[in-house]
Amino acid sequence: VNRPVPGFKPTLAHRSAVLRAVADVAAADGTTPDGAHLPPLAVIRATAIIEDEARAERNTSVRAAREAGHTWAEIGEALGYSGPGAAADAYRVIAVIPEWFPEWFCRACGRHVQDAGPGMPPADAETGHAGGCTRLAAAAAAWEAARQPGTAQR
Ligand SMILES: [Zn+2]
Repeated sequence: VNRPVPGFKPTLAHRSAVLRAVADVAAADGTTPDGAHLPPLAVIRATAIIEDEARAERNTSVRAAREAGHTWAEIGEALGYSGPGAAADAYRVIAVIPEWFPEWFCRACGRHVQDAGPGMPPADAETGHAGGCTRLAAAAAAWEAARQPGTAQR
């Protein structure tokens, strides 16, 4: 899925970092610039590699964020979303790729958890917690509290 980061305006520093990455990946493939420019096919290959690697890095960090206790809403905010839809927007971006379903290690109960995302009770969304897991209990309480009128869903 190719979607711009909401509210994100790339700076010269961002652009320059991407161009350096393209040059580095092309060099790793054995392609050297012809004068000031890389051959267009080498750039296409390098950007495809960067997209795949960036997505993998993002997904690893989503897993780490969930393990560290960050909510889907916080992940959504990091992706540039805001408001009550941020959690669902984040999950839609992250889990839309069918071969990657968020899975992370629960530090509270020591089990691997499959995460079906926000929008349903944590007991249904997070499968794999051990019985009596304190994190799942806290998430369930927060989910119930968020369902009260006037609070944003986390
Ligand atoms: Zn757990």
